[in-house]
Amino acid sequence: MDRRDMMKGFGLGAAAGMLGLLRPARGEEAYSKATKGLPPLKITKVKAVLTAPAGIRLCVVKVETSEPGLYGLGCATFNQRPLTVAAAVNEYLDPFARGRDVDCIEDMWQNAYTSSYWRNGPVLNNGLSGLDQALWDIKGKRAGMPVYQLLGGKCRFAVDCYTHCGGNDLKQIEESVKRAMERGFRHIRIQRGGYGSPQLSKRADFKDAGFGLSSDSNMAVRPYVRGAIEMFEHIRSTCGDEVELLHDIHERIPPIEAINLCKQLEKYRPFFVEDPFAPEDNGYFKLLRQQTCVPIAMGELFNSPHEWVGLISERLIDFIRVHISQVGGLSVARKIAALGEWFNVRSAWHGPGDVSPVGHAVNAHVDLAIWNFGIQESVSFNDRTREVFPGCPTMENGYMHVNEAPGFGVGINEELAAKFPLPEDPGYWRPVRRPDGTAVRP
Ligand code: MG
Repeated sequence: MDRRDMMKGFGLGAAAGMLGLLRPARGEEAYSKATKGLPPLKITKVKAVLTAPAGIRLCVVKVETSEPGLYGLGCATFNQRPLTVAAAVNEYLDPFARGRDVDCIEDMWQNAYTSSYWRNGPVLNNGLSGLDQALWDIKGKRAGMPVYQLLGGKCRFAVDCYTHCGGNDLKQIEESVKRAMERGFRHIRIQRGGYGSPQLSKRADFKDAGFGLSSDSNMAVRPYVRGAIEMFEHIRSTCGDEVELLHDIHERIPPIEAINLCKQLEKYRPFFVEDPFAPEDNGYFKLLRQQTCVPIAMGELFNSPHEWVGLISERLIDFIRVHISQVGGLSVARKIAALGEWFNVRSAWHGPGDVSPVGHAVNAHVDLAIWNFGIQESVSFNDRTREVFPGCPTMENGYMHVNEAPGFGVGINEELAAKFPLPEDPGYWRPVRRPDGTAVRP
């Protein structure tokens, strides 16, 4: 029964007409009421912009609207497969989204998510994130507010961040940590050389045997584990107990070795140990929890809710560390944060160099607005990046600040962006091998 039949049925047609209840309940009048007089706004174009002002392959999605000059930006950076994301955006999301209402972000997300039927992969999630975040940017601009205001307003004055310190020997790492502390950082991630400390692994038998390529990296388990423990011992004894220390195992050792390492690091009080296992080994977290209370951060490779829901709801991790564009955008991140709040799992969104300045701003807007913020990974943007993306978040005394412009506050100079094309190297994650040549994840 439609509205008119209902009125007829009740014999109230005339009375209702007099009261104005039969005026059209949909269309422009209803829209205008709901948006406080803002004009209807449609998506006219969705496109991927690829640029590499710092030599890192960035992908940003620009959503244009029927209001001339009003556009939104979202991060869709997938450094290892940027061209596939651009194709997903330009060939599929653009025709899907054109003509649709910019205001219905959640509805758009739900329908775009299932528009490929198969879902939860990194390429489509990044494209979807670009669209989703751009719509939040537009909504903020329409409202005349920074996005954190739309999410409930600030829970803190700025975003406490960690920075990266490393080196090939202990003295180098110590000096790097001391410099970061002087710059105001209270949280510092320490790594001994590259992930898994490959420089400590002396034997690369696979290279002598001509297996793989000579550029493939070599990493043995024992030198890394021993080196990581030595590093914590050295930094705690030379840099004091006040500084919070973080470390990323980066999934590179067998799960049982990672559990042993976490137990041995316990006495150095790490703020968190990151990614002890590959996502395929999520089943090991119960054993890890039984063995140690070292705080655990997990999830930068996660794409699907199946990967994080159980870890959060069973209190198996302390920090959820997803890469916001990889999980599908701000709309997903705020739900993850809300889930985490009820289990006291805090946020530690992935924030490396291969997140665009738009993505870093999105991280920060969510960080400002959620109660269960934990810590934020930070980078410093080079001058070229700041010129291509005017309005980048800024760092001061270890805190990240967003500008207070409506939306995410980050724009794009497309002409300048075009002057920094992607490097010719396709950007593969380089193979890492055990001394006998076995491939190491990731
Ligand atoms: Mg990591």
